[in-house]
Amino acid sequence: MKNEKGSIVRPDALPASASRPVVTPLSPSVVYASETPDMLDQQYEGGLQGYTYSREGHPNADVAGRRIDRMEGAPHPGVMTSSGMAAVSAVLLGLTKAGDHVIGGNQLYGRSLRMMAEDLPRLGVETSMADPGDIDAMRAALRPETRIILVEVVSNPTLRVADIRALAELARENGVLLVVDNTFTTPRAFRPFEFGADIVLHSVTKLLAGHSDVMLGWVAARDAALNDRLRVFTVTTGMTASPFDCWLAERGMLSFDLRFDRAQATATALADHLTTLRGVKRVLYPGRADHPDRALLDELLGGRFCNMVSFELDGGRAEANAFTRAAEGLSFAPTLGDVGTTISHPASSSHRALTAEKRAALGMSEGFFRISVGLEDPDTLCQVFSDAVAAAGAI
Ligand SMILES: *Cc1c(COP(=O)(O)O)cnc(C)c1O
Repeated sequence: MKNEKGSIVRPDALPASASRPVVTPLSPSVVYASETPDMLDQQYEGGLQGYTYSREGHPNADVAGRRIDRMEGAPHPGVMTSSGMAAVSAVLLGLTKAGDHVIGGNQLYGRSLRMMAEDLPRLGVETSMADPGDIDAMRAALRPETRIILVEVVSNPTLRVADIRALAELARENGVLLVVDNTFTTPRAFRPFEFGADIVLHSVTKLLAGHSDVMLGWVAARDAALNDRLRVFTVTTGMTASPFDCWLAERGMLSFDLRFDRAQATATALADHLTTLRGVKRVLYPGRADHPDRALLDELLGGRFCNMVSFELDGGRAEANAFTRAAEGLSFAPTLGDVGTTISHPASSSHRALTAEKRAALGMSEGFFRISVGLEDPDTLCQVFSDAVAAAGAI
């Protein structure tokens, strides 16, 4: 049937409504139509708020992004990116030039390490790694050309803690930007801007979105000009977040605080339970009194930790195989922050590129596992681990 605008492909505007939808509408539109060239001019100049082309911004990115801004206490609106690695790339590639030097924590996320080891040097940016819990080692790595120090608060998978306050001071004294990847701790446990970080970034893919069905990142800078540079770089390089992912992430974040608290409580119970099992050599959890960085944890995290527990099983690869086979209902998968508990095995995944000797130096044997605790009933989860550890011991 033809209406009076029958030959126009998109004749219909949204119907008017005096009420608004409670749920954020999904806006997949790539382009936005302005009324006149004058108005478009004003949009580009910032005089009128409005979207133009979704690589430059769209409503779903803004809704999700403003939620993370509030959680992190970001001084300026952060940028939603297509993945956590896009956020890392925006910082490391967008804010450096040939001749600069970047220092990274020695236990960064694997892909961040790879960017430091391979991509930055190819572009003429030199890199060094140092232990972020050892401020003297970090100071020793500084050079006159150092531009950025990139650290994570809690290291993966050994769960050691970076001395963020001392690092912020070191960075400030030397005119270096302190960049904190806050993916593991999340703003529920730690807000890096309050401790002097210059830039904070996230893999929203993990705990914030929380359901392993979106891939997103977020990054924001304390300094307005730097924050703008990050935005412009992500738009230019096309690191844009998809509306659907942002929409799902917003939905996930509605329950983030509850999920975090529940997972942390269960992680605490599970860590304690693991210490009672025959066949478990050691347990690492930032919530336990015996954590080697106890004082730093109390100072920085003030009672909240994370949902990650690492432990070492007695035995080698054969026992590790028996354990994952017997861990019924848990996904043996290289991710974290899902609603379901996942277990990962650094020796065969994230740290497989290292020699066995190097892994041993970091405390990662064939029996070493990392658990991302989900929302299961704590007693049920503890029972699954009891059974799986017993199965590993029985071979
Ligand atoms: C997963 C992860 C990243 C990368 O995020 P993606 O969304 O997978 O690109 C960066 N940092 C940390 C700490 C992570 O866990």
